Amino acid sequence: MTENSTTKATMEKIVSLCKRRGFIFQSSEIYGGLGSCWDYGPLGVELKRNVKEAWWRFMIRERDDVVGLDTAILMHPQVWVASGHVQGFTDPLVECKACHLRWRADALQGIKCPSCGGELTEPRMFNLMFKTFMGPVEDAASVVYLRPETAQGIFVNFENVMMSQRRKLPFGIAQIGKTFRNEITPGNFIFRTREFEQMEMEFFVKPGTDEQWFTYWVEQRLSWYKGLGIRKENLRLRPHGRDELAHYARCCSDVEYLFPMGWSELEGIANRGDFDLTQHSKVSGKRLEYFDDETNEHYIPYVIEPSAGVDRSLLAFLIDAYDEEPDKEGTRVILHLHRDLAPVKVAILPLSRKEEVSGVARKIHSSLRPCFMTQYDDTQSIGRRYRRQDEIGTPFCVTVDFQSLEDHAVTIRERDSMKQIRVPIADLKQVVLAKLAGEPFEGQTATAGEGASKA
Ligand code: ATP
Repeated sequence: MTENSTTKATMEKIVSLCKRRGFIFQSSEIYGGLGSCWDYGPLGVELKRNVKEAWWRFMIRERDDVVGLDTAILMHPQVWVASGHVQGFTDPLVECKACHLRWRADALQGIKCPSCGGELTEPRMFNLMFKTFMGPVEDAASVVYLRPETAQGIFVNFENVMMSQRRKLPFGIAQIGKTFRNEITPGNFIFRTREFEQMEMEFFVKPGTDEQWFTYWVEQRLSWYKGLGIRKENLRLRPHGRDELAHYARCCSDVEYLFPMGWSELEGIANRGDFDLTQHSKVSGKRLEYFDDETNEHYIPYVIEPSAGVDRSLLAFLIDAYDEEPDKEGTRVILHLHRDLAPVKVAILPLSRKEEVSGVARKIHSSLRPCFMTQYDDTQSIGRRYRRQDEIGTPFCVTVDFQSLEDHAVTIRERDSMKQIRVPIADLKQVVLAKLAGEPFEGQTATAGEGASKA
């Protein structure tokens, strides 16, 4: 296996950090857990929101040609007939005749059970959609599915969005939401689960321009990951071979990340052609076309789809950010998370619990917390508190000391360089906002006696 350039980040260390610091817990842990289901703790939920927010800003808010949507998880069952999921959203399942464990045949290396070496059954196709019943009657007529992708909610609203927003091609519709797949072999922590979140965008274009838009979106999506700190040597693009293409795709490339278990898909970018709108037109009987008033033609647009997993991206961001450095207490664990992703932006750390100091620190805390996520911590030594914040990826710590009572200034310490600068309390909010926006960490260097705490 090729090594991730962050070789210090094993999956065990990431899982342990996530539990210890309150990022991610096993679901229903007190009952022994539920396989492949995970709960996001107080820091995990902040990180997850930040990942989604970064995607939303990049894909929608900073552009003129993409709008957002939020559709229901439960949809008319005919949607999944039209999309091909009822018929074809399957994986080949084999079962061990000895230990009865089930496996995905196409993911196995050999022809024996990987657990006990037993003989396997012939593969049968297993549909990955979760079924449930709508209303009080549990019969075939009331079957509905938990959506296995968010994309179909976008296709069935194509006309609603286009008409209400007076959109012309090319334009995109994006959404983020929960998705469910009854995976045969989930695993690798939050990499493959049965309930997860997707961030998907369908970009509708004039047929003939699809290839150039495909290339454009591949580049955009790679730049999104790099812009949020993923090292370029841990990212690669893998075009699908003809035999691997999904039933709807004209071409597809996966953005892959070098996870601790090897290169694996982070995001799929597909040229879906006119497959989905054509299918929904046929099955619903409603024409889903675009009228091009420049050429006076009606046609069905082609679609380019970048489809990313929230949880998988979050895992990649954590792995890429993880670092360990030797220090005098043993090891300093640091998450070099991008400022936009860090769950806590600023920690306020008074160097004394005496009222004069803590009163000032609390006032500072109150003034900062409406602007960004903060944490107030006055327990244990300052060194320990810095370590705790480094381990959760907090970019800046603000220390308040006795000197602050005289010079009305505080010390800001930056996570990665551990550099410290002294800033007037009156300017603190503006300074932190500027640093969070990416301004270089420069200013009056704090000296000992001005809260420059050794750590
Ligand atoms: P895989 O080959 O890993 O099963 P896929 O090709 O079926 O994935 P897509 O249908 O292209 O996946 O889904 C788009 C994205 O959704 C994936 O790139 C991934 O980030 C995320 N995703 C898909 N399945 C899961 C899952 N079971 N758990 C977590 N994330 C998932």
